[in-house]
Amino acid sequence: MAHAKLAVINLNGGSLELIGRLISEGRMPALKKLIEGGSYGLLESPLPTLDYPSAASFLTGRGPSRHKIFGFAEIGEYGLPNGRIVNRESLKEKTLFQILSDNKKKIASLYMPLSFPPEPINGYIVSESPAHDSSEFTYPPKLAKEINMELNDIAPPKPQEGFPADGFKDRVDIKKFIAVAIERINRTKEVAIRLTAIEELDAIFIQFYATDTVQHALWHYIDNRHPHFTQDPEVVKMIYDFFMNLDRAIEEVLLRYGASSTLIFSDHGYGPCLKILNLEKLLEEFKTRDPYLRDRVDLPIARLFKKIDFTSRRGILPLSLYQRFIAATCGVFIDFKTLYINKRIIREASLKNLIQSLETLRDGELDKKVIDRIWHTEDSGAATLILDLAEGYTSRPGSSHQPLLMPIIPNRDFLSGTHKKDGFWVLHRGGNNEKRELAASIVDLAPTILSIMGIRPLGGMEGRALI
Ligand SMILES: [Zn+2]
Repeated sequence: MAHAKLAVINLNGGSLELIGRLISEGRMPALKKLIEGGSYGLLESPLPTLDYPSAASFLTGRGPSRHKIFGFAEIGEYGLPNGRIVNRESLKEKTLFQILSDNKKKIASLYMPLSFPPEPINGYIVSESPAHDSSEFTYPPKLAKEINMELNDIAPPKPQEGFPADGFKDRVDIKKFIAVAIERINRTKEVAIRLTAIEELDAIFIQFYATDTVQHALWHYIDNRHPHFTQDPEVVKMIYDFFMNLDRAIEEVLLRYGASSTLIFSDHGYGPCLKILNLEKLLEEFKTRDPYLRDRVDLPIARLFKKIDFTSRRGILPLSLYQRFIAATCGVFIDFKTLYINKRIIREASLKNLIQSLETLRDGELDKKVIDRIWHTEDSGAATLILDLAEGYTSRPGSSHQPLLMPIIPNRDFLSGTHKKDGFWVLHRGGNNEKRELAASIVDLAPTILSIMGIRPLGGMEGRALI
């Protein structure tokens, strides 16, 4: 049997709606070839649609109620955030990388989410680390030196990279921002090619991250259903240029590696951001309505700040950056302090009211429901409420002086576009291709990858192989 060489590429936030359009316009020929010659479809991401819950599902083949990763804050004892940021060590189950290693497969992973701190495997890891600035970001530790790279040189992309602190003033700013994103794509490509040149690999995993950054900032230029849709052919051309660079980078990596099978997926899709739910205001309203809740519920963010050890050897980001990061991504939790004790609820009526008012919360102006579903202790194991926001809504800590549903300000906020549930997947397998369109879930990817490599999926994996 020929040596299987699998390439797995995670396009962070890649959406079939946009990429499909670019393909039909002839702007992404490499992706077109993969889709037309293989199987593809929508890929449902587990809730909530943040990178780490999705990454945990990708790596373990299990949903969030199993891996217990719901955001960027780790859930610890009593189901409460314990002050730690989620990282690879938060995963309690065997990861895909470990299973492949156990089966003597030689692998490399580049910037894949939840790969920090890098774990010993049969191969090479260059970890992503949006929440950390550590010099120990590769496995083996000497890898960075061996391939002649410094942290500055190889540093993985960070959220909001290249986005000006007070937003875009003009097209020049947008152009500079896109240039940084293109440079990130090309750097990822270069490092990937260097990794494939070290020795023969059975599988390489690569995340291209800049798609997320570009789409958060500029979605209103490319989606005419966006309430702030702005027609500007020059900006659109810059965005297309970014995606064309991405397509060329993918093609080059696959060619240089000599991939016999390619799996491309996005951990979540994209859509317009309509409004921002102000969590501080939301809490204030609950506390006014139900005096019992006063002093008993809180946002975890303030608590996290008090508990985090910023001098930890893992080298967590400087406080200012960390605050921006965590504030932007941890707003999905609401803690119950004394409402729960040892996971036992002590006043059911208050909890019921709270959940009911969250579930029925409406955006009067757009006539839409704001929250799709609440995850609470039964399904999450957490003594927190995890809000699964409806498509188009996102949350921020906010303040009590701002409205409950804050409008977005395109070009100033890094929130023109936001994550939605449906990403996509494409599988192309050299000689033995099946061609079909099939909706799948992110938990299906681990069993699929193992099947391609001739390894039986572990019991307990929730998905099914897509081949
Ligand atoms: Zn994002």
